[in-house]
Amino acid sequence: MQERMGRRIVFFPLPLQGHINPLFQLADIFYSKGFSISIICTRFNAPNPDNHPHFTFHTIDDGLSEEDATMKDMIALTIKLNETCANSLRECLSEMLSSGSAQERVACLISDAMCYSSQAVADSLNLRRIALRTSGISAFASSLAYPLIVEKGYLSMQDTEAMVPELPPLRMKDIPKVKSQVPGLYEELLSHMVKATKLSSGLIFNSFEELESRSLATVYQDLCISIFPIGPFHKRAPSTSASLLTEDRTSISWLDEQGPNSVVYVSFGSLAAFEKDDFIELAWGLANSGQPFLWVVRPDQGQGPGRFPDGFLEEVERRGHVVGWAPQREVLAHPAVGAFLTHNGWNSTLESVCEGVPMICLPRFSDQTINARYVSDVWRVGLNLEKSIERRAIERAVRSVLLEKEGKEIRARMACLRNKASECLDEGGSSSESFGTLVNRIRSF
Ligand code: UDP
Repeated sequence: MQERMGRRIVFFPLPLQGHINPLFQLADIFYSKGFSISIICTRFNAPNPDNHPHFTFHTIDDGLSEEDATMKDMIALTIKLNETCANSLRECLSEMLSSGSAQERVACLISDAMCYSSQAVADSLNLRRIALRTSGISAFASSLAYPLIVEKGYLSMQDTEAMVPELPPLRMKDIPKVKSQVPGLYEELLSHMVKATKLSSGLIFNSFEELESRSLATVYQDLCISIFPIGPFHKRAPSTSASLLTEDRTSISWLDEQGPNSVVYVSFGSLAAFEKDDFIELAWGLANSGQPFLWVVRPDQGQGPGRFPDGFLEEVERRGHVVGWAPQREVLAHPAVGAFLTHNGWNSTLESVCEGVPMICLPRFSDQTINARYVSDVWRVGLNLEKSIERRAIERAVRSVLLEKEGKEIRARMACLRNKASECLDEGGSSSESFGTLVNRIRSF
């Protein structure tokens, strides 16, 4: 075991799967550099501490009622958590600071950028806070531009193909749509996040300079704080798993029986759900493609086997495998996987880039439309079905990526991007250098 250096970093995640994964990977990366690690968790969606015996866990009261904890409105939930957790977070941190020994000082708090209230908590304790934004840099740049988007009236043009003049290559229809029961709540959340981030001691991204250099320059200019693009995290911490659901290992044994680059892996992350008609279109699109597929249908999606269209399971019996939750990074690294039909959550997008798997993009909400636009129009490593779910389009896209010339060309571009994602972590690479600067900064606190 690496010797501890006498500095502790406290991590505080937003308790949603797509935010927990990168934060735990980052914690493991710092652990491997000799820092001691404490994780402060809410009761809601707490990862299993037994999977991380080298970390110290503290659970705080999140003040959520049972009703709050099952709410589907992630914007309202995030704002509520910021309000309800602030006091218990302060108490927990204060206790840690006063009980810490001279041999092991708490150096800083690293918390999710969406946990904006943690900035005021850290300030009140004279503790440095560094924010971790788990989206891409380009999506964050669009958050910075959100007030302008509102002011210019672009929200009323969200159904059009027109370019957003200030945010190329984004189109009006790529401006994130987020359903919330209360109008204006999304803007409120972004505004809190940006304000708190500007007061922080730095901002970490799970991305790398070569992937999003233009957006990185915009963010530097707007924020005037230190920015650390040090990803892809999971390639530095390959064994970290903070999965809230059990991974179905038959995904891998089933893939072992398939030919190279023959399978389309289908997953829409931890939150996206489908209307019944869309689910049926998706099912027939996969079936009619004639290609093997591995499809993640989460139990909480309410689309159990009984909801598959009549005749579907018989039709795909030998060709399709359906699981409730997959070991996704391992799946994407499997030689049988030739395409990823994805909602383009940032983690999924980055994981696909790192394994060189071409994407078929079906973004649902939030920053997914932005990530999909970069995949199809900037990096040109996937086909964008935009937001429409139509069986013919899905069938055509699957066949095109797996079987046709277009797919081969995409795969070749993807191979170049995968190499860049790997090289940035080599000694002297952009992410490596930025991480070195960050470590020195934290040591100096
Ligand atoms: N994931 C997984 N198994 C699955 C589906 C997803 O382990 O069956 C992981 C995936 O590797 C990624 C995360 O869950 O790290 C999803 O994050 P993402 O940002 O892609 O989407 P979100 O869930 O936030 O919409």
